[in-house]
Amino acid sequence: MVRRLETRKTWFTDGARALRADLRARGREDQLPSGEDWYACPLCLTTIFRIEVLEEPDSMLTEEHAPPAWSGGTVLALTCKPCNSESGRLFDGEAHKQHTLGRFLAGESSEPVRAAFTVDGVTTYGDWHVTGTTGMCMFGVPKANNRATADLMTEAMDRYVGPDAPDLRFTITPRMRINADRARTSWIRAAYIVAFARFGWRYIAQPALDLMRRHFKDPASVTLPILSMTHPDGDPTRREIWIIREPTERRCVMVVLGQHRVLLPLPDDNRSLEDLSHAWVGDHDITQPARFSANGVQFAWPDKPMYSLDRLSMN
Ligand SMILES: [Zn+2]
Repeated sequence: MVRRLETRKTWFTDGARALRADLRARGREDQLPSGEDWYACPLCLTTIFRIEVLEEPDSMLTEEHAPPAWSGGTVLALTCKPCNSESGRLFDGEAHKQHTLGRFLAGESSEPVRAAFTVDGVTTYGDWHVTGTTGMCMFGVPKANNRATADLMTEAMDRYVGPDAPDLRFTITPRMRINADRARTSWIRAAYIVAFARFGWRYIAQPALDLMRRHFKDPASVTLPILSMTHPDGDPTRREIWIIREPTERRCVMVVLGQHRVLLPLPDDNRSLEDLSHAWVGDHDITQPARFSANGVQFAWPDKPMYSLDRLSMN
């Protein structure tokens, strides 16, 4: 635990110095109080912190995983508590549901999924489990079914018991309400954190990313163009960061998070997110898997904040 705090303090100090170097390089150093190390939340850029915040019991500066921990992500940045917990509620929860359902439908998951189970026109609701390759079971959730329906189901099932019983035919319909836009934002937000960790403050300071930050804060107030696509053959553990150079109109930073490909602007890009989205997505049906080819340079995946563009201003 102590070592962990020491690591976070190092991250804080490195981040604060990179932030000052970036602001100085852009003639904006007056945005920070002078003298000490100040670190801003990279997701909202509205709160700045002193290093003492890390010692506080319920610290307002928290560890941000990118991608989310449930998908194998590691801590890659320090962000303010409201940004970190709000987005868990708004975005990552939706991505997690989508992920759980996808694995369930592919027969890869033993995690239960809430489903409707129908036999002979009688429907009950419960948690559906797949065990191994052949076993399945459904646990009725008492609150979700009334007594009469449960009795009808027992009656229906009884018709399929015994030596001369017909084959059991049933349907199972997963009942998960998933907000696909918010699930997509979860991946965009993770890619934003990765790009921040890799390239630093100068990267996220570009005006096009203001729109993204506003969307993270309040998705109902600003819509984002499509900036995330899924690739069917994606290895879930794949983590890559690319600078795509060709074709020219598709130049961008691409962050690969398992099956998800997120498009971000190049450093100091002057195009809007709308233009970037259009160049890649165009008329593509976003519900379908994307296949494309492009050339670029791959960068090492960060295992901690690197601020590589800011370092250019520091030396
Ligand atoms: Zn924040």
